[in-house]
Amino acid sequence: MKAVLLKEFGGPEVLACTEVAKPKAKPNEVIVEVAFCGVCHLDLILRQGIRSRLTLPRVLGHELAGKIVEVGEAVRGFAIGDRVASSNFQACGKCHYCLIGRTSLCRQSGGDIGQTRDGGYAEFVELPPENLVHVPKELPLEHAALAAGVYGPPYKALLRSCRLKAGESVIVTGASGGLGIAALPIAEKVGARAIAITSSALKVDSLKSAGAADVIVSEDGNFGQQVRDLTDGRGADVAIELVGSPTFGGTPRGLAPGGRCAVVGELHGKPIEINLGLLVLKEWEFHGVQSASTPELAEVLAFMVHTGVEPQIDKVLGLEHRRSPSRHLKSTDNWSSSFATLTAHGHSARLSP
Ligand SMILES: [Zn+2]
Ligand SMILES: [Zn+2]
Repeated sequence: MKAVLLKEFGGPEVLACTEVAKPKAKPNEVIVEVAFCGVCHLDLILRQGIRSRLTLPRVLGHELAGKIVEVGEAVRGFAIGDRVASSNFQACGKCHYCLIGRTSLCRQSGGDIGQTRDGGYAEFVELPPENLVHVPKELPLEHAALAAGVYGPPYKALLRSCRLKAGESVIVTGASGGLGIAALPIAEKVGARAIAITSSALKVDSLKSAGAADVIVSEDGNFGQQVRDLTDGRGADVAIELVGSPTFGGTPRGLAPGGRCAVVGELHGKPIEINLGLLVLKEWEFHGVQSASTPELAEVLAFMVHTGVEPQIDKVLGLEHRRSPSRHLKSTDNWSSSFATLTAHGHSARLSP
């Protein structure tokens, strides 16, 4: 089969479409014929060897959907022909956190698809059924492939951790990045008012068309007062922090008493200061949010069908169309997001010819 193989760390030239052996299903695994696989900013980081868990040679790609073509004899619940999408994190299913349903905190993780085992930059991929969910028939595989990566974190942050409701207001920092562009329509579909924060005045119109009710252009993270001005002096009910320490100074200042904040991104890894007296007086909640687990991915797919939100994909690449999917990514202008994009608003690479 064809696969884009990473044999050494480096620039886009180290990825090459090549012929490799097609995987055969182990008893507890399935083989998926990849229909679509997202090309993500994380893939660029992995390609450069910045994350250490990845072992070479490796097929990257952790945002994928396709059809099952082979089922291991011990697998239950999946059959040949099923349309499936995959979450990327392999939980053990046995530790304390897995047993209480918080698989993203698994202590004995088997690693990540596209890092510690081969991923979706290939015609076929072998996957554990624990990572798979059935794709509702109404949903194109192209959209399902991006469900976990694009909608998973903001869905989990807004609806699960922060319990965002109709009529509430929500700050979205880093709004013009991939996750921000996904968070805006989620908030809009819920009936909430999204206040987008961006450092670029050029993004105002596109953020409004993506679902922002208001856009604040702020280069220094000092947007708290502007949020209060937009919310009758009260502040926003919810904040989704997609940038992290550079914007976090403004996030609590814009948060209403009783506000809930989910931190999804941290680009710099710098400590921040917070006034604990204010935390007590305002009874704020802060949550950390990782990527979506398999059950959360199933919720995201159902949400996409129910609300009609869909990722904006402008470019679909063939597996062989370019020698390296990430060479194309590198040439795009939207690298501020944690999710790499082929265009301004979405990302996907088609991996079958
Ligand atoms: Zn990703
Ligand atoms: Zn576990």
